[in-house]
Amino acid sequence: METLNSDEMTLRELKIGRSAVVESVGGEGSLRQHFLDMGVIPGAEVSVVRFAPMGDPMELRIRGYELTLRLADAEKIKIRPLDSFPVKETKKKVTHKEHPGFGEEGKYHSKKDENPLPDGTELTFALVGNQNSGKTTLFNQLTGSNQHVGNFPGVTVDRKDGPMKNQSNTLVTDLPGIYSMSPYSSEEIVSRNFVLDEKPKAIINIVDSTNIERNLYLTMQLLELNIPMVVALNMMDELTANRGAVDINEMEYLLGVPVVPISAAKNEGVDELVRHAVHIAHYQEKPSRQDFCDENDYGGAVHRCLHAVMHLIEDHAAEADIPLRFAAGKVVEGDTLILDRLNLDNNEKEMLEHIVLQMEKERGLDRSAAIADMRFQYIGKVCDQAVTRPVESREHVRSQKIDRLLSGKYTAIPVFVLIMGIVFFLTFNVIGAFLQNILEILIGMLKDVTEKGLSSLNVNSAIKGLILDGLFEGVGSVLSFMPVIVTLFFFLSILEDSGYIARVAFFMDKLLRRIGLSGRSIVPMLIGFGCTVPAVMATRTLPSERDRKMTILLTPFMSCSAKIPIYAFFVSTLFPGRGALIITGLYFLGIITAILLSLIYKTIFKGKAVPFVMELPNYRMPSARNVFQLLWEKAGDFLRRAFSVILLATIIVWFLQSFDTGLNFVTDSEQSILAIIAGIIVPLMRPAGLGDWRICTSLISGFMAKESVVSMLELLFANEGGVANAISTATAASILVFSLLYTPCVAAIAAIRRELGRKWAAFTVLWQCAIAWFMSFIIYSILK
Ligand code: GDP
Ligand code: MG
Repeated sequence: METLNSDEMTLRELKIGRSAVVESVGGEGSLRQHFLDMGVIPGAEVSVVRFAPMGDPMELRIRGYELTLRLADAEKIKIRPLDSFPVKETKKKVTHKEHPGFGEEGKYHSKKDENPLPDGTELTFALVGNQNSGKTTLFNQLTGSNQHVGNFPGVTVDRKDGPMKNQSNTLVTDLPGIYSMSPYSSEEIVSRNFVLDEKPKAIINIVDSTNIERNLYLTMQLLELNIPMVVALNMMDELTANRGAVDINEMEYLLGVPVVPISAAKNEGVDELVRHAVHIAHYQEKPSRQDFCDENDYGGAVHRCLHAVMHLIEDHAAEADIPLRFAAGKVVEGDTLILDRLNLDNNEKEMLEHIVLQMEKERGLDRSAAIADMRFQYIGKVCDQAVTRPVESREHVRSQKIDRLLSGKYTAIPVFVLIMGIVFFLTFNVIGAFLQNILEILIGMLKDVTEKGLSSLNVNSAIKGLILDGLFEGVGSVLSFMPVIVTLFFFLSILEDSGYIARVAFFMDKLLRRIGLSGRSIVPMLIGFGCTVPAVMATRTLPSERDRKMTILLTPFMSCSAKIPIYAFFVSTLFPGRGALIITGLYFLGIITAILLSLIYKTIFKGKAVPFVMELPNYRMPSARNVFQLLWEKAGDFLRRAFSVILLATIIVWFLQSFDTGLNFVTDSEQSILAIIAGIIVPLMRPAGLGDWRICTSLISGFMAKESVVSMLELLFANEGGVANAISTATAASILVFSLLYTPCVAAIAAIRRELGRKWAAFTVLWQCAIAWFMSFIIYSILK
């Protein structure tokens, strides 16, 4: 049996509520770098908050925020237990420092070495910050646009640009939230390359003031880039409400850049931020300080190492156009991407290695830890001198209470099932259904009026058929499902904004790992119930390529909201009274298929396990503005689809089914062009009970947009008094299963292609059609 003496304890063994000091951090590569970047470095104090309901992962508190960590990873971290969490003295001498005057005009702005850009240059800004620091909220305030805001680490997955309102010739880019400039996830690489290669005129670094220590870690690295920068100190409302404060002058002095306290959510301080940002960009005021290594710290080993490396690589850095100080830090850390770009000689590489080895020896820490420690030392100085720490915030106390229920040992999973149950019940049976009825009545009334009008005008019966059967029955029936879809998005966005989905990821991690995924995969999966396109994009937050690929291939099985019209249509016409059962069954069939597939994929896609290191933000009340903006967007998207793709498809199909190859109007649509085209795949579909050209046509049109399956069926079966009279229940069941599983729509396939490439997109189309055919075949054989 293994024995551990007390000075060889690992983080895994620490009990709930106990604290310890980190002695050493094991592991290697980018995983270890990620620990260090999140503040888990030798000397840091940690305490254990709780374990997930299934015992793994664990939740830690470090540097004033909550972090998740798997037990297997915690095992690699050696600790020395503390008796009690030492309360830091926050007594601060009031300094009354003079205003450093960065980013300002007038008496403070030295006019000597200013270097204004020529008038008319477009001022480009990169909005950079940690996940959940309020970037998207600020972006919305700056641009006045309606970007989706969420309270999950990593909701913003794509770059978004927009001009600042009331500022001509400006462009702000909202970048993915990152914790560090290390290339850990594909997000971090995107943000880093944007700043390095596209050379924005200035950086707006957003810092969460309630979580200042960890947020400043990124700031330290951004300062090294030698790009004009302004720090937007966000969430000041929360900080001051909890009796925290920041000495802005002192902080500006220590960081060497303008610092503007703001509250993005309340739109306070944003105007001042804009003024400073525009000023530093126009005058190209660079950070006045980059040298954060102290020559007296631990004998100055790190300081001497960094400066030696800077001299050594100076010419290469200039050649590769990488800011020198930044390059030196990354090279010492062993960042291979930067090393490659620098293109050093072998001699230089050797020399570099010797310098770093000597530093490691003198400092007593390995290279990555030494650099991370150097940054946190400086941050400690900034916090000691400029920040009055808040008392434990009300938001945090509240979050802890909520978490006792929502991620408690015995309650987490039942509550999750209950919440999802309530969401679907309200969406399908109450709110959505109620609004849907109203909309259906309105559309019905409009149809009657139109019908009377058309009859009195003696319109050609073919055109009349197009308008009444095609547009009203087809597009109209799709349209009436808009309330259900918008309601579903409403609930999903509230769950996401509040911070709940991050908890779901936390307690589902162990379960998801069994099927080869990680807790983080739950986010794309849940978004997948709304729409596959954003779900596929949300996978970019996953740090492992393997997890990403698997998650992308599995999300289409989470029945997207565009399929709701199909289910609802058949349920109300062919299976009245058993609607809830059948729809729930379909959702579960999708999930079960995904689980079975994941067991196969798990053995095919091999890859390294990736740590589950994720921040658990405080619960926040979702802001009404953000939620309504999202709904507005989704409703708009849906209407656009209904009146473009679906309308067009309806008209084309109407044309193809009303005329024969000689372009004569046909009364029996069996002779139409459409019947001939669809006839090709009919024999293939017959074993699954789908061997009718009208059904085949509808399913093909579903590739454009799933909703149009319903409008097509309505249109094509209009002559026979509707689908309900024309097909058997076995066929209906088969259509339902096929619609659930077959290829995602064009938009989703395009998103998959963007993420995984053409081959995987083609694979998805064919593979899902095959699965759908097989399952439909089984269902049909049982029921017929
Ligand atoms: P991002 O991940 O950096 O894009 O952050 P978001 O803009 O999505 O914001 C994360 C959460 O913080 C949301 O719930 C916002 O409503 C909230 N939030 C943003 N700014 C402020 C602020 O100034 N004060 C407070 N109290 N909350 C804020
Ligand atoms: Mg965001």
